[in-house]
Amino acid sequence: MALITEESANHKTIVTIDGPAPGITRYSETILPTEFGDFQCIIYRRENGDEEVAMVVGDVSGKSDVFCRIHSSCLTSEVLNSIKCDCKKQLDAALQKIQSLGCGIVVYLHQEGRGIGLGDKIRAYAEQAKGRDTVDANRVLGLPDDARTYAGAAYILKDIGVTSVSLLTNNPLKIKGLEKNGVVVSRRIPHLLEAGEIANNYVRVKQDRMGHLGSKI
Ligand SMILES: [Zn+2]
Repeated sequence: MALITEESANHKTIVTIDGPAPGITRYSETILPTEFGDFQCIIYRRENGDEEVAMVVGDVSGKSDVFCRIHSSCLTSEVLNSIKCDCKKQLDAALQKIQSLGCGIVVYLHQEGRGIGLGDKIRAYAEQAKGRDTVDANRVLGLPDDARTYAGAAYILKDIGVTSVSLLTNNPLKIKGLEKNGVVVSRRIPHLLEAGEIANNYVRVKQDRMGHLGSKI
């Protein structure tokens, strides 16, 4: 992967760009009953052993404008109930949404801490505790603002067989990441939720410094 810097009028973001197509294959699947309903749960395995998840509702193969969320893992929020970010709420809302629509896909990628991993995410949190925002905390540690890649997610969507997606996201890099890997994003649906005060700060920094879209908080 290579580091690039993207600049626009109001933000400058260091990101990684996707490398070669990932070695990733469909490994197993079942119907998974959850609090929100039944999902077709498909596991994809990468050559390095990482496993990614697709939660699917309805018959989406061959369909266009399929409602889709690409969600990056956040153990601190989703498992440990951290209130520093709104990831758990975003994930739950997306899973509930595809149940209510009766059709859609949530792809869950293991990219903790915008791809820097759990250990470095906690190092960055320690910097944030000193008063740095989420961007400066990464930079003072020499870490990229956002190291996530989307070639794997694109592979998964193509494997499932959708012809285009309506993507639930505020992140333009996610749209670019899918499109450059051959997925047609026919529409962007803003993902705006009520978050607590601490998470609101996090969302505000993402909007002001990382080019995320949405109403200003
Ligand atoms: Zn989070």
